[in-house]
Formats: sequence, structure tokens, C-alpha cells
Amino acid sequence: MLNNKLNNNISFQFPRHLRHGEQGCLQNDSCPPPGGPLTEYRNKATFDWKRLKIYIEGETACKRMQELYSSLLSNAEFNCDHDELSTDQLLHRNYRRYKSTFKIIPAFQDRLKIIQESFRDFRTLIMIDCGLFLKRSLSCEIPSHLLYTAKRDTTEDIKKLAEGKFHCCMALTEVGHGSNLLALQTSATYDKNYDSFVLQTPSIEAWKCWAGNLGTCATHAMVLAQLYTPDGNCHGLHWFFTPIRDPRTMQPYPGVLVGNMGKKIGFNSLDNGFMAFTDYHIPRKALINNISDVMPDGKYITTEPNPRKRFAAVASNLNYTRLGVVMLSVTCLKKGIVIAIRYAAVRKQFGPTSTSAETTLLEYPLHQWRLMPYLSACFVLGVTMDSFINKKLDYYNKLYSSKNSEPMGSTLASLYLMTISLKAISTTTVRDGLQQARECCGGHGYLKCTAGIGDLRNDSDSFLTLEGDNNVLLLQINKLLIGAYQKKMEGKDIEIEFGLHDFLNNMNQTLKTKCDNTNNLTSPRGILEAYNWLICYLLAETLSKLNQEIETGSSIIDAFNTTHTYHGKSLAIVFSEFLIIRCYFDVLTTNQPPKDCAPVLLDLGMLYAFWSLERHLIYFCKGNYFPANSGIEAIRNNVSTLCLRIKNESIALVDAIAPPDEILNSVLGSSDGQIYKRLVSYFLTGGKNLQRPHWWKEMLPESIMMSSNL
Ligand SMILES: Cc1cc2nc3c(=O)[nH]c(=O)nc-3n(C[C@H](O)[C@H](O)[C@H](O)COP(=O)(O)OP(=O)(O)OC[C@H]3O[C@@H](n4cnc5c(N)ncnc54)[C@H](O)[C@@H]3O)c2cc1C
Repeated sequence: MLNNKLNNNISFQFPRHLRHGEQGCLQNDSCPPPGGPLTEYRNKATFDWKRLKIYIEGETACKRMQELYSSLLSNAEFNCDHDELSTDQLLHRNYRRYKSTFKIIPAFQDRLKIIQESFRDFRTLIMIDCGLFLKRSLSCEIPSHLLYTAKRDTTEDIKKLAEGKFHCCMALTEVGHGSNLLALQTSATYDKNYDSFVLQTPSIEAWKCWAGNLGTCATHAMVLAQLYTPDGNCHGLHWFFTPIRDPRTMQPYPGVLVGNMGKKIGFNSLDNGFMAFTDYHIPRKALINNISDVMPDGKYITTEPNPRKRFAAVASNLNYTRLGVVMLSVTCLKKGIVIAIRYAAVRKQFGPTSTSAETTLLEYPLHQWRLMPYLSACFVLGVTMDSFINKKLDYYNKLYSSKNSEPMGSTLASLYLMTISLKAISTTTVRDGLQQARECCGGHGYLKCTAGIGDLRNDSDSFLTLEGDNNVLLLQINKLLIGAYQKKMEGKDIEIEFGLHDFLNNMNQTLKTKCDNTNNLTSPRGILEAYNWLICYLLAETLSKLNQEIETGSSIIDAFNTTHTYHGKSLAIVFSEFLIIRCYFDVLTTNQPPKDCAPVLLDLGMLYAFWSLERHLIYFCKGNYFPANSGIEAIRNNVSTLCLRIKNESIALVDAIAPPDEILNSVLGSSDGQIYKRLVSYFLTGGKNLQRPHWWKEMLPESIMMSSNL
């Protein structure tokens, strides 16, 4: 949470070089000299990074983060080393760490606390391992969150999850369907003779799969299944808290076939599993009955008779997990960018002449252009994410103030749009940013253990498709925008907020506006006006294309799919970027930063905005928004100028977002900047890299083998 009430007495986990009197961590080596190679850039900063950190995180969160890092670092389970582990060792370590997290971060206690505190506290877990955060979320927090909404006493189940007596997972995806949840086939049919639901997997396509923590560890699964009443009616998807393994033996119950899916590209500290049910009975109370319930006589009752809205309410819990993915993305991006920028400030290649001193990578404009926008993304997406979380908190505050669990339509729709927009943009940014970071570290960036970027990249790759595939989410954003336009035309109310009314009311007027003077662009207002125009332009283009398709005989669905590729998708991306950029500048306006931090925060926002706008130049040209296309040069010049300016602030900026060195665990990214000493020290670690292979004899020429007693 942003907070500008500064308290300079807070003690931070300072980067190693700033901790007074502390010794360095290189084996057989002395402490890095005071300052070290990063000092020159640190001294160039025009602001105090500690003040910036407090502004961004909030004072309480900074203190809490400091406490958490200290606790994590003093617990041997959380030691980050460079050892290569097998999949089984990774799973085991993650389980032990998971158990230990409860000593440091208490489990779910009440509905609001989980959201407020977990989002703050769990960032520290992500800094250690994405899989640790996911295990904690899937095994305990998310299911507890759902159980809490049930209109029956679930205290005992929640307690057992928190005490580690139960371990849960979220079982939505099936072999045949992931994105299209409505087509899931697993059924839960109420049997009034036994007062229980019977879970059934009707086909191989209906096998549950991919659920994290299910493979070997889960005793329970929160199963998403189609609810049938004895009269044969299907009432759509509902959650069922389902026991699947005996917690005393960890063996599956009869009727449950469950197992591990095997090794993945990343995230191997988490066991993703598959599961099928055969006539498997679970008690009636297993149904999460916040919106709907089944009576002992088999009668279905619900507070939301509209099936579409009922599904939206059931699926609304995914918003919570999507924000978790955003948090994972922003945290992974921060780690990767810290490493690449510190490396770039030390690494030198080439110089003006063959005899002159070589130039640090950070001084090359191309290198600045490759890294600074992603640094700006760390701040813009981070600040926006916090603001979204607060909005979500407000929603839950209202929703659960009297344990009234009926979701509020228009706020829910707005939160949904906000969350999927941020999810789609942040996960794509982390994919590209980590790849850029890895390449910016050159060959050394390819070392798995020492650089630390490869694992981040592999883990975060999955964010693109999980919790809603990005392309599918962009389709939904497009549909929501077109739907809002159509409703407006029909004079109906629009459920979604975000100034959509203003957009649609002023669309014709906005489309007539031009940016006559590119100097106007250099303020948040000018940027938002450009976005405003862009959204209206793309909305008009998409609608016109859609109408053309329909006039030539396409069905609405086909027309929509056809126009999405080149029109609707861009509209969805542009609208999502607009939401993010506007939110960031709103926060800077409503919560004034400290004086020394304000200019750099503004620069970061402007860089992010110009860099994002640059990807849409084609539409500005097509729509003649700028006179004689002058905007192209203006936008590019602004990107370059801001990259250059932020370059001098960049080491202090990464100090403000970096975790302690022991947790960053990157030879290339340490705060002392001793990349070569640490690299060589790693080469020599434990002498294991100096050994000949145990199969060395196989390499000998046959003659030597024959003539020796080897
Ligand atoms: C590491 C990991 C962890 C996971 N954890 C869980 C978990 O805990 N619980 C759980 O239930 N699931 C989990 N999943 C599954 C995940 O949620 C699904 O993979 C995701 O929902 C996407 O569904 P899908 O794989 O069926 O892809 P599909 O829906 O089959 O999509 C495949 C491709 O088709 C495209 N596509 C789909 N529909 C359209 C359309 N209408 N128009 C154009 N293109 C389209 C998509 O963009 C995508 O590129 C996990 C997955 C991974 C990789």
C-alpha cells in the first residue's frame, strides 16, 4: 500500500554493501571494499532509495517485510543454495519449507485478513521460490477462502488446513477443457438415499488434470463439477470440498484414481496431478453453498437464478488467484531486472578506442532501451497491482461485512475486467522482460544456478496460460467492451465502470481530435488523451469490421472471432494498458510522493507509457492522430531520453525493489557488484567442478585400457 508518511527510523534489510561493518560472503575472500563497483552509479541517484521504498510499499509493509526476511534467513529450511536438486528433492524441500511458512506467516484467520496480509506477506515467499507461494496458496489459503464463504460451519476444516492436517488443491481443469470451464464434464449428482453427492468422471476428457499439489501431496481437492439434482436437472458448476486421500496413510480412497503428471518445463517444486472418480460418494455438506444449496430431499435452492450470473459468482474466486499470478509476475520481473541492471552497471565491453577504458554496458543506449522500460514496468505494474488489491479489499469489506456472500454485480464485473487486464499485461511483460534480462547478461546469464534468471523464466512461462490463457482473456476484454458499446447504443445500463460511459458518450468527438503539438504528449494528461483517442479509434475500427463480416453473412460469433485477430485484440491490449497507466498516475496524484522521489516516479510512468504507446504507432498513422506523423519521432525520442535519464537512477531504483542478496541468490545480481569474484568463487565451490567424470576410464584409448590394470 502506498504511504507517504515517512519514518526514517525504519531499519531495512540493506543491500550488503550498506550494512555497516558486515563482512562479505565470498569464501576465502575479504569483504568487498566499501562501496564496490556499483558505488559510482549509486551516487548518481537524485533520490533516497529508502524513502522511495517506503513510499511504494508503505511503512507497515516495509517493517513487516524486514521481519519476514529476517525470519526466513534465520531458518535453515529457506537457505537458498546453488545445488542442483532432483524433482523429488525439489518437492520435498518445498513441502518442508511450506510447513515452516506457518511459523512465520500465520494461516488464514478471517476473510479480510487473508487478502490484506497474504498479498503483502507472500511476496517474500515468491522472492524465495514461486512454487512455495503457489503451494501455500493452493494447499491452504485459496481453499480456506472458499470454505469461509460456505453457509455452514467450516471452522474445523479451515483449522485442519492451517495446522497441516489437511492439504488441498484446486481441481478445475480437465484433460479436454481448461479455458472453457462451462464445458467441464465432471458431475456431482445428489443421491438423497445417502444424503451425499456422487462424483463421476464420465470420459477420459473429464479426467481432472494439472491441479497443483494434487500429484502426491493433497488429502483434499476443491473440485469444480456440474451439479445434478435427482430430477436430472443440471444446475451448472459448483465447488465441492472433496476428501481424496486418507490423511493418515496418504493413500487414495476407493473410487478415486489420482497421480502425478510428471516433470514440467518449470515449477517442479510443485506436483501437478491428474484424478478420476468412479461412483465416489461425498457428504452433502461438501458443497460450497454460498450461493446455492441442495436440500436433503433433493430440492435445489439458489439466491442467483440467472445461470450466467451464477457461474460468474462461482468463478469470481478465480479473481483472487489471478491477482496472485499478477503478484508472481511482478515479483519475478523485479528479480530478473535487479540482476540484469546490476550486472550492466559493472560489466564492461569495448571502448571509444582500442586503448581507452572500456564502457559499462549500462552506458550503451541500446542496453538502456532494452532494460529501462522493464524497470519502469516493475514500478508501474507494482503500484497498479497494489491499488487493484485495495479496490478488491473494499469490495470484500462490503461483501463480507455481515457474512453476506452474495456478489455485487457491477463491482464484480468491474473487478473482473480490471483483474484480467492486469493479468494479461503483466504476465506478457514478465515473459519478455526476463528473456531480455537473460540476454542482457550475455553468456553468464545462461548459467542456471549462478545467474538465477533461467528458473524465473521457466516458472513464469506458465503464467501466460494458467488462471486464464492470455489470448482467451483478451477475447473476453474485447467482448466486454463491444458488449458495453452495444448496451449503450440500446440505451441500457453498462455494468462496468472505469469511465466507459465517458468513452462511449464522447466517442465521435474524441475521434475528431488530433494531437497538433507533440509537446502536449509530455505530461500524463497528454498520454491519457492519446490513449483515449486510440481506444475510440480501435473500438470504431473493430465495430466497423464486425458489421462488415455480419453483412457478408457471418454469424456474430464467427464475425467476432475473425475481427479479433487484427482489431479486437489490439483494442483489448490498449484498453488494459490505459487502465494500468491511468491507475499509476492517479496514485501519484492522490498520494503525493516525497519531493526527491516525485520526478523519478513520474519519469518511470512516462517511460512505461511511451514504450507502450510505441507498439501502437501504426494506428496513430492510420488515423492521422499526429500531423504528418510527427508523433512517431516524438514518442521514440521520449523513450530514448527517458531511458538515458533513468539510467543514472537505475541502481538506486533496483536497490529499492531488490530482496536481500541471500534471497536473490544471484552471482551476477549481488548488491556488492562483485560479479567476477563471485563467479570464480562459484566455479571453485566445493571443488566438485574440478573433478574428472566418474566414467573417465571409458574415454581412454583401448590400447591403454588393455595394457594397464586400471
Ligand atoms: C504450471 C501449471 C499449473 C496449473 N495449475 C492448475 C491448478 O492448480 N488447477 C487447475 O485446475 N488447473 C491448473 N492448470 C491448468 C491451467 O489452468 C490451464 O492450462 C489453463 O486454464 C488453459 O487451459 P488449457 O490448457 O485447456 O488450454 P486451451 O483452452 O486448450 O487453450 C489452448 C490454446 O488455444 C487458444 N484458445 C482457446 N480458446 C480459444 C478461442 N476461443 N479463440 C482463440 N484461441 C483460443 C488458447 O489461447 C491457447 O493458446 C495449471 C497449468 C499449468 C501449466
